[in-house]
Amino acid sequence: MSTRRGAELCDSSRGLSRRHVLGRLAGGLAAGTLASLRTARAQMAAPALTGRVVLPADRAYETARFDFNRRFDIRPSVIVYPKDTGEVGNAVRWARTHGLPLSVRSGGHSYEAFSLGPGLVIDLSDMHAVSFDPLAHTITAQPGVRLLDLYRRLWNDGVAISGGTCASVGLGGLAVGGGVG
Ligand SMILES: Cc1cc2nc3c(=O)[nH]c(=O)nc-3n(C[C@H](O)[C@H](O)[C@H](O)COP(=O)(O)OP(=O)(O)OC[C@H]3O[C@@H](n4cnc5c(N)ncnc54)[C@H](O)[C@@H]3O)c2cc1C
Repeated sequence: MSTRRGAELCDSSRGLSRRHVLGRLAGGLAAGTLASLRTARAQMAAPALTGRVVLPADRAYETARFDFNRRFDIRPSVIVYPKDTGEVGNAVRWARTHGLPLSVRSGGHSYEAFSLGPGLVIDLSDMHAVSFDPLAHTITAQPGVRLLDLYRRLWNDGVAISGGTCASVGLGGLAVGGGVG
C-alpha cells in the first residue's frame, strides 16, 4: 500500500478539528473526568504514522506478518517501515498515543518471533545504510542491514566485523545480543 494511503488510514489526528477537540475537552470537564482531558490532549498531539504502512487488509500483510520462523502465527494490528529515525520516533509516539504495544524488527530472525506482537511492529528493514570512516576507523550501520550486504559493503573498504554465517540475519537483532556466534 502507498505511504500516503497508510498515513491517511492511520493518522488519528486527521479530521479532528479544533472545535471537535474543544468540544470533547468541554464535555470531559463537565463530566469531571481527568481521563477525558488526558485523552483529548493526547489526540491533539498525536503524530501521523509515517513511512510505508501495512495493514491486515493489505496484500503485503500475509508476508509481512511473519518472522523467518513461520511457526509463530502472530497478527500485528499495524506494521510500519520507517525510512529514517524521525519516522521511528513518529511510530513510537503514535503507538503510545493509541495505547498499542510495540515490537521492533530488524532482520526478523528471532527464533521465538520476539520481533512481532499484537500491536504496532516497527520494521527497520528499509533502514540499511552503511558507511565507513577510514580516519576514525569507524563503521556506522543502520539496524536493518542484512549481514551479507554488510560484509559486501565493508569488503570494499577492506574491513570486516565478526558476525554470523547466515546471510539474512539483521544487524539490529545481532547487535542487541541475539547472535549466537
Ligand atoms: C536461520 C538463522 C540463522 C542464524 N544464524 C546465525 C549465525 O550464523 N550467527 C549468529 O550469531 N546468529 C545467528 N542467528 C541468530 C540471530 O543472530 C539472532 O536471532 C538475531 O537476534 C537476529 O537478528 P534479526 O535482526 O535478524 O532479528 P529480529 O527478529 O528482527 O530481532 C531479534 C530481537 O532483537 C530485537 N531487535 C531487533 N532490532 C532491534 C533494534 N534495532 N533495537 C532494539 N531491539 C531490536 C527484536 O525485537 C527481537 O527481540 C541465526 C538465526 C536464524 C533464524
